[in-house]
Amino acid sequence: MTRPVFRFAPSPNGALHLGHAFSALLNVAMAEETGGRLLLRMEDIDTTRCTPELEAAILTDLDWLGMNYECPYRRQSDHWDDYQEALDRLIDDEIVYPAFLTRGEVRRYITAREEEGEEWPRDPDGAPLFPPQDRQRSASERKSLIADGLPFAWRLDMQAALGHLRAPLHWEETGAGPFGETGTIRADPAQWGDVVIARKETPTSYHLSVVVDDALQGVTHVVRGRDLYHATAVHRLLQELMGLAVPEYHHHDLILGDDGRKLSKSAGDTSLQALRQSGATPTDIARMVGLETVRKA
Ligand code: GLU
Repeated sequence: MTRPVFRFAPSPNGALHLGHAFSALLNVAMAEETGGRLLLRMEDIDTTRCTPELEAAILTDLDWLGMNYECPYRRQSDHWDDYQEALDRLIDDEIVYPAFLTRGEVRRYITAREEEGEEWPRDPDGAPLFPPQDRQRSASERKSLIADGLPFAWRLDMQAALGHLRAPLHWEETGAGPFGETGTIRADPAQWGDVVIARKETPTSYHLSVVVDDALQGVTHVVRGRDLYHATAVHRLLQELMGLAVPEYHHHDLILGDDGRKLSKSAGDTSLQALRQSGATPTDIARMVGLETVRKA
């Protein structure tokens, strides 16, 4: 029997806090329970916000917690070619298009529509959907804008992508969505509109690299926070378009701060480093996030 493969995938753009500890320790516990492998992946495609110092701090925190991941671990910024290859396939299949609009242009367009009384659709995170201008450009217009050196991102043509599907998309959820959804979940990627597949400054995006890596690393169980529950619909779509294996998903509770809000990267006194410095032990951390024990493997 092949062993289950779990992964913890932090972004080194800030300090790990109790929410990350919960995610990491839950991956540890589930891997131990199932005799699975445990991988670590540094999701550092945002090269302006991610730094080697923050990556080193994450390793210190994880080692202190006693997380025993396989080495060497994967660092996304070492693998641009993998993402470029996946992007090239989507370009060849004409499922993505170059998007030139600047943030300011997008904002002004949507504000103008809303001032005219139009209700502009929003994605599950509350961000307005990308407007249609770039999708509607002719091939020759695209060519000349690229020739002019205008920077562009690659965005998924959501309607074209959905047209490639032979059946509705689903995923198996062993955790729960925001309303307790569990079991076989119907994926609805259309609610995200034309998502970014490759940013202006990098040949990838969170959505593209996460599905490429989960497949390349043979991940069978994605255990992560509920804030990524809705994004799973986009991940399922990309997996289907690229013929990638589909893991099982487990979205867990978020650890909330005293103000009832999700913890942020500027975690202050909920950062693992601050807790460690104030005398907390890994067992205390496990207890604080509701996982009673943390076994040193
Ligand atoms: N890198 C993402 C984060 O730190 C997690 C991605 C995932 O688990 O799919 O929020």
